[in-house]
Amino acid sequence: MIPVFGEKYNFQWSDLGDVQFGRPNLGQQMPVMVYRLAQYTMREALAQRYGDDTAAEILRDSGWIAGREFCLNVMDRAQPLAAFVAQLQTKLKELGIGVLRVEKADPNDMLFTLTVSEDLDCSGLPLSGNTVCDYDEGFLAGLLYTYTGKPFSAKEIDCWATGDRTCRFEVKPDLLAA
Ligand SMILES: [Zn+2]
Repeated sequence: MIPVFGEKYNFQWSDLGDVQFGRPNLGQQMPVMVYRLAQYTMREALAQRYGDDTAAEILRDSGWIAGREFCLNVMDRAQPLAAFVAQLQTKLKELGIGVLRVEKADPNDMLFTLTVSEDLDCSGLPLSGNTVCDYDEGFLAGLLYTYTGKPFSAKEIDCWATGDRTCRFEVKPDLLAA
């Protein structure tokens, strides 16, 4: 997937500001509850206005921007795939986003099954029967688009919210969007 606006958005990494400078006493950390409160109330407000499907799509689009900007600003895009994945695992863990594992990989065709445990967005949520990590789907797609230059699709097939202990994503080149 590529959002309809593609790379033409206004957000830039510097919009995140200088946290060190702005929060000399409170610093970089805050409880996961605060992040989830923001995400799930935003999702609710979007769903109230546009319906569940469009709300999910908007979250996916925001995740895509986040994945692209993360790749541009945090990751080393010049390294080969195995090293790129290893760096991604380290970063996601360091930042408390989740524990990424590669369950299956076909690097020639760029097909992957990835799992994220202790996921920031969903681990511990009440069961709803629906996968909820739309933002993460967009994040993975945007990240890989930026690394490879090709559109990717990432689909969450298992989630804490569907009763699984880990989120599982099927990731592949998005031929429809190419
Ligand atoms: Zn999930």
